[in-house]
This record gives sequence, C-alpha cells and structure tokens, in this order.
Amino acid sequence: MAGLGSASRIAHEIDFDAEGRQAGYLRAPLSRNTSGWGVVEIPVTVIARGRGPTALFTGGIHGSEYEGQIAISALARTLEPGEVQGRVILMPAVNLPAVHANSRLSPLDGRDLNRCFPGDARGGFNDMLAHFLDAVILPMADLSVDVHSCGQAGDSALSTNMHALTDPARRVRTLAAAEAFGAPFNVVFGGIDEGATFTSSVERRGIVSLGTEVGGWGRVHVEGLRIVRRGLRNILAHMGIVEGHPDTAQRDGSAGTRHMQVPDRSFYEFAPAAGTFEPCHRAGERVAAGELAGRLHFVEDVDRPPVEVRYRRDGLLWMAAGPGRVARGDRLTAVMTDYDPR
Ligand code: CA
Repeated sequence: MAGLGSASRIAHEIDFDAEGRQAGYLRAPLSRNTSGWGVVEIPVTVIARGRGPTALFTGGIHGSEYEGQIAISALARTLEPGEVQGRVILMPAVNLPAVHANSRLSPLDGRDLNRCFPGDARGGFNDMLAHFLDAVILPMADLSVDVHSCGQAGDSALSTNMHALTDPARRVRTLAAAEAFGAPFNVVFGGIDEGATFTSSVERRGIVSLGTEVGGWGRVHVEGLRIVRRGLRNILAHMGIVEGHPDTAQRDGSAGTRHMQVPDRSFYEFAPAAGTFEPCHRAGERVAAGELAGRLHFVEDVDRPPVEVRYRRDGLLWMAAGPGRVARGDRLTAVMTDYDPR
C-alpha cells in the first residue's frame, strides 16, 4: 500500500487506524549495486486504543544522536495497548542509513535530513523520507517530540526546545507540554536556518512541537537518557494517553523545568578560523558577556598565538563546542537566558 493517497514511494503494511500494537517497517526504495529493487526498512510501531489524541515520537533523524533511538525503541517494546487511550506512533530510527553509519549526515548523499523538510516525493532518498513524514505521518499527530542531542558537534544542557511562536494559544500549549516533559531547561529559540527542519514542518501543520537537546559529544548521555525516558512517559500522561501525572522533579530540588530563550544571533559564537578549540566552560555553566569562551589554537604554526573567542551575552551555556578541531564558521557556543515572552 504505497502512499495512502499521497504520492509517496514509501510502502508499508501498517494500518494507522487499527486498534492494538503494530510493529513494522516503512519500506523506502533504494536502488544499489546489490539490488536495484532494494528497500531500506525503517522501523515504526503504532500503539492505539479507543478515542484520544495522537503522540508522535521520533529519534535518529540525526544518526549520531542516541538517547532518542534508545528511549523510543524501549517504549515501543514495552508500552501496552491496554495502557493507552488514543494513539502513539514511535519512530526510533527515522534516518536509518545515518543511524547505521553513526553519522549526522546521510551516507547516501551527504545531506542532513533535518534540512530537507517538507521534502519531495519525487526527490532523492532524504527528500522522499522527509515528504513521507510531513505528508503521511504528521497529519495524524496532535503533538510531536523529536529527540535530538548535539551529536559529535557539541554538548548541550539537558533541555527541550521550541521555536518562538507568534500564535499565543499554540505558544501556551507548547510551553505546557515542555513543562510536562520535565527536562531541566526548555529553550525558546529562533535558530540558524530553521525553515527546512522537521520542527518547522510540524509547526506549519499546526501541531504542538517539542525538540530536545540532551547531550552530545558522540556519547550516550546517562542523565540525558533518563530525562528522555521519563519525558516521553510524562508527555503521554500530559496528553491523557496514559494515566498518571508527569513527574517533573529536578535533581537540584526545583519542582520543574526552567524556561530559557536564545533571542538572536548574538547569543551564538562561531569559529573565526579553522583550528583546535580549547573551551573554557561546559554546557549548563554560567557565563558572562566579555568573558573568555575559549581559545582557538593553530598548532601547525609554532609561533602563531591562539585567537581568543569571547561571549557577547550573559547567561547559561546551552551548547558547548564539539571536540577539538573546528572549521571556520562552525558554531562554538550558544548561550541561553531566562525566558521573557516580550
Ligand atoms: Ca541534532
């Protein structure tokens, strides 16, 4: 059953309107040397019972970000249909070729799936996959949680995130969903080149959208994984899909999520040259405008002094630099400050 009335080339046997638990695959065509009619099998689990809202949980849109892959596949194995009132769609490894390659970018064409939305049914693999998510999956969802970390490109304070939304009602609903998820921080941001991200597709369809940043540096963040596992269950409780109340207690003793924002580009610092970056702070630490963010070293030039990079804004470090070597123009730091809806 290709496409469910859309023009998608991705086939599947899931009946998204059926009751109970279905675990299957999207079969995305990929011609290759070993098989001209080969497919890539992308796992999807649907758990549904009765009437109620639909939650969509996605992981592995970037293959080198692991917390969502682990937490969503675990929930897909353990969530019982009898617990559910409504529907949960779980996709732990959306960008399966990148997951297998342990890579942010697709090994098929070097593209970032999260810059391909809303996609194109007739396009390359990533465009085809983005189109399926946008045109087939998203119209079923009431709320989407897309689990990310910083991959190999950095480290982050443990956080949900959302765009700065102009519609007040949707902003209130999204802030409430973030509070229910219960990460230590929720970051309202505009980002850099966000128009072709999954989040933007979700928002264009009027669906409540949460992202996460729960670590990075190419490792599974132990506390980040705990926050995601708890957060997904919390969201289901918040939506009334499972019984119970969200558990949002924080390790520092506070009762819930602290709302933060990244108002504009002056909260980001970029590498002024290629080099080896020595950071001065870890994600989550307090930093001040004018303070040294790090030194860019040119180890191949014995007498060339390092370049100092300084923060332009006060706040907490949302994202810290990746390990070591950076290219000119790489994002080094992102600072967040307390949320002010004005
Ligand atoms: Ca990511």
